Amino acid sequence: MPIPVLQPLRRRVRYLSPLLWLALALLLEAGYHVSRFRVPAPELELDPPFYTSCQEPPDPGNGSAPAGARARESAALVMLARNEEAGAAQHSVASIERRFNRWFGYPYVFLNDRPWSEDFMATIRATTNASVAFEVIPPEQWTFPASLDKEKAQASIEKQGRDGIMYGGLTSYHHMCRFFSGAFYKLEALKKYKYYWRIEPDVDFSCSITYDPFVEMARHKKVYGYTIALGEEGTTCPSLFRQVADWKEAHSIRSTDLWRASMSPSRLPWPLRTFAKHLPHRDRRGDSWNLCHYWSNFEIADLDFFRAAPYQSLYAQLEKAGGFYFERWGDAAVHSLAVNLLAEPRKLHHFADFAYRHDYYYQCPANARDGQLPASGPLNAAEPRWAPERDDGVGCRCSCDSARPRNVGAYCLSKLREPTSTKRPWRTWVLGWVY
Ligand code: GDP
Ligand code: MN
Repeated sequence: MPIPVLQPLRRRVRYLSPLLWLALALLLEAGYHVSRFRVPAPELELDPPFYTSCQEPPDPGNGSAPAGARARESAALVMLARNEEAGAAQHSVASIERRFNRWFGYPYVFLNDRPWSEDFMATIRATTNASVAFEVIPPEQWTFPASLDKEKAQASIEKQGRDGIMYGGLTSYHHMCRFFSGAFYKLEALKKYKYYWRIEPDVDFSCSITYDPFVEMARHKKVYGYTIALGEEGTTCPSLFRQVADWKEAHSIRSTDLWRASMSPSRLPWPLRTFAKHLPHRDRRGDSWNLCHYWSNFEIADLDFFRAAPYQSLYAQLEKAGGFYFERWGDAAVHSLAVNLLAEPRKLHHFADFAYRHDYYYQCPANARDGQLPASGPLNAAEPRWAPERDDGVGCRCSCDSARPRNVGAYCLSKLREPTSTKRPWRTWVLGWVY
């Protein structure tokens, strides 16, 4: 017997049911869509540290060995700097010499858009025995590209300054980001090198680096090494991801796990999500970049990756789009999207055993338990004391405080390590929904 009060409800349900089915279908579609971006965890760590304890460093000799004589890969330490940064540059060189280069003797290449001051050169020469080249960047590589409307670009830069976009109002900063995205790899001064280690004024390395990272990069066929990963300032690059994603589509490049790890899939069902494509950081399907990138003020990378046709083609498109000036695209974001797009995950290396600080951000590993070679003469000469050892430590004689958070961009670091790491911190999963 029908219950009278339920009659209108039944009618409504019958009337609603096509809509309920549709809603269910959309929900399933959205769920399926999101699931396609899941990155499976590998069964083994695919990118462990090259070493997880101190190694006996090469014999430093008596210090009179010819500079650069011990270098074993075709590589250089490269720093872009301004004359007025002599003290800060010296600080970085002293740090990397004490912790690494005293044993390895790799040459330095200093780059500047202006002629070097005597003071800068003397300061650096007094800080290292390695060979040092002071190069001036050709003016055409430190300016607006010829194809760009200079006045419009300048007006945009002024507006970015007024809008408070980080470094947006500084023309030189735009030139710098463009330089590190494109011309850098093709500089005459770097032609003879395959690998570079980029450093900046005022950085610190506070663990000892007792093996040759260039040799290990070569041995493991790595193209890009980093320490810190964090989220990009979104206002500097609203259209960058779209440009890269469009280039990817135009060249029919399939998504690697690393590309997927750098994206946040839209949670809207098709076709609703395609309407979101006009928002910043979206591809034309409406999915977005999670803004995670490697912090490029530290990089150990294979110059040939950037010199090769795919990267150069991508760079040409970015240059044409004008975003180095009409927005304030950073070279870190450009490099990161490019390697995540063009390199297989195993070609990347996270230098988890390096302690690195730039500004307020740092990575600080704990020291490896029983891995500190207490009797090593060269190590004791460089760093006789070190912070406490831990079972999960990978560092060598680190003096930074490893009790404090290890890596500022913890979300981005574990996100970008998803394709190569078996570890999935729950925090990353939770934050993935917020991002
Ligand atoms: P941040 O690290 O993004 O905060 O920016 P920095 O001011 O440290 O600049 C990044 C790098 O580019 C550093 O190595 C600077 O020395 C260098 N740099 C920035 N602007 C200029 C410039 O106008 N001329 C030169 N020669 N170097 C610059
Ligand atoms: Mn800096």
